[in-house]
Amino acid sequence: MCTSSRVQDRLRQWRAQLGVVVGTTGIVVAATTGGLFQMLEAAMLDWYIQHRPLEAPDPRLVLITIDDDDVRRAGEWPLSDEQLAVLLEQVRSQQPRVLGLHLYREVPIPPGSDRLSAVLATTPNLIGLEKYIGQSVPPPPILQQLNQVGLADMVMDPDGVIRRGLVSVRGNDGRIRNSFAAALALMYLQAEDVPIEPQGSGSSRVQLGKTLIESLRQNDGGYAQIDDGGYQVILNYRGTQENFETVSMTEVLAGEVPDDLFRDRIAMIGLVTPTYQEHYNTPYSNRVRDRYTQMSGLLIHANLTSQLVSAALDGRSMIRFPSPVLEWIWVFGWASAGTLISWYWWQTSQFRNHKSPAWGLLSVYLGTLCLILPVIGYVAFIKGCWVPVISPISAALMASFLVSLHNVHRLQKLATCDGLTQLGNRRYFDLYLERLWSSSLRRQQPISLILCDVDYFKPYNDTYGHRQGDDCLQQIAQALSLSVRSGDVVARYGGEEFAIILPDTSVTDAMMVARRLNDRVRHLQLGHKTSDVAPYVTLSCGVAHLIPQWSNSPRELIEAADYALYEAKEKGRNTCVLRQLPEQTSSEY
Ligand code: GH3
Ligand code: MG
Ligand code: MG
Repeated sequence: MCTSSRVQDRLRQWRAQLGVVVGTTGIVVAATTGGLFQMLEAAMLDWYIQHRPLEAPDPRLVLITIDDDDVRRAGEWPLSDEQLAVLLEQVRSQQPRVLGLHLYREVPIPPGSDRLSAVLATTPNLIGLEKYIGQSVPPPPILQQLNQVGLADMVMDPDGVIRRGLVSVRGNDGRIRNSFAAALALMYLQAEDVPIEPQGSGSSRVQLGKTLIESLRQNDGGYAQIDDGGYQVILNYRGTQENFETVSMTEVLAGEVPDDLFRDRIAMIGLVTPTYQEHYNTPYSNRVRDRYTQMSGLLIHANLTSQLVSAALDGRSMIRFPSPVLEWIWVFGWASAGTLISWYWWQTSQFRNHKSPAWGLLSVYLGTLCLILPVIGYVAFIKGCWVPVISPISAALMASFLVSLHNVHRLQKLATCDGLTQLGNRRYFDLYLERLWSSSLRRQQPISLILCDVDYFKPYNDTYGHRQGDDCLQQIAQALSLSVRSGDVVARYGGEEFAIILPDTSVTDAMMVARRLNDRVRHLQLGHKTSDVAPYVTLSCGVAHLIPQWSNSPRELIEAADYALYEAKEKGRNTCVLRQLPEQTSSEY
């Protein structure tokens, strides 16, 4: 049976839509948590970073860069302790507030080792470099003793891109070690008396000057179950090397820089050529990720240092993200939008001219929806918030697809359903018989068909009115449905004619069913005072039976049943007549 009334149909539709929204949200949230959208969300983040308005270089930082030319001029790599000491002395003489040496120097490289040791030992605002995680590289021993060391370590996303910055890690000995960037930033801020106040018992939230800095957790932003060890933040890149004030080592050594260039600033010395030190993929690296668009460790640390200092002093935004609950609501909202758009389209498309590009219109609706989301994501990012957009787009599209699927199914049902009796209609009967015919032909199984016609129904209508005639047909339809097996099909064949298809049924059983139908309808005792055959409404049944052959078709079965029905009428109605093929004989029961 199909749906029973318009109101019920509406209620069912609303229930189905709510189911679509909730189900889609569940699936998308599960997929997000499983990391399905992680790299796409990260790619969106890269896009935002690449396309946002460029900020002015941070006036607090100067980078002293060493590239291939500088190395060529120095005539050696690694630089000797002598050359490094001279460089440090030159920079130190201008009294930078913090001096970062982003070069490994775990063993002396003579000549000049004593001179370098003296510089390191007498520069309290100098931070040296150590690699701590994995393949470790120790810091210069003097700086380690003085506790003037920062970690070079990077945290890499699964696609090899550096989007997160490491602030600190707790070592195996329980001691907190700051990254190179954080060590520089904190030393710089110390001079400004910027308060550093941990919030709550855990150390995952720290008020650093004007900004609350929160440690990244596994599923924050577009991430899913990333390694959130240590104290990490999303890197709010200020830019590539062009967006930092830089001077080359050669210029510094030649005294070609202004006298107060480094005064009271953070001066960072390091390599900017991939020839001598590993470079990394960042959101600025191009698609092919070739090594020339990669970024040096120095520059990544400079970005993080600038991020921490500007957050503390200027209130420049760290990158925030919605809480998991807000993210679910966000996905739920877009699943609802996808559902409503599709639902609205299905509602209105029924009344639209067939020539209009109906599917095109739905695509325009959904396309607009999918374009709005990246725009929202971009605007949110400019405001300092990384909002997932791929998961809501997926939710909207999936919800829309499911609503369409549901409606196609519903319309298919409507197209094969008789509105008055809720039985299958003539079209359904034809389709079903056609399909059954093919399978029965293959298996050589018999098919029986019963055609029933209400006796004297025209007089019934004339006597009781058309409305009651309709009620009568509904009651007969229900009685017929309840009188057959689940595998049998009852359809409304015409006005007051019904057809019952009985797959794989013998002649005897088919006749038994026909008699039962005849009995049931009579026993409904629907009064019919103008019938010539009984005081109640009765049925005449024509039964046909055959085993499909290549030489015959469903049409012959229908014609035989029709002929048998005609004979039943001829024989006085309220009776069942059988016609068996191919013998073409009929018999009354
Ligand atoms: P017979 O015993 O020979 O079948 O006589 P009959 O009056 O039933 O014969 P006929 O087939 O000519 O009449 C069928 C009538 O069924 C005519 C039509 O008014 C009525 N009918 C067909 N469809 C509907 C319907 O949907 N509702 C109602 N109330 N009547 C219908
Ligand atoms: Mg008729
Ligand atoms: Mg009739």
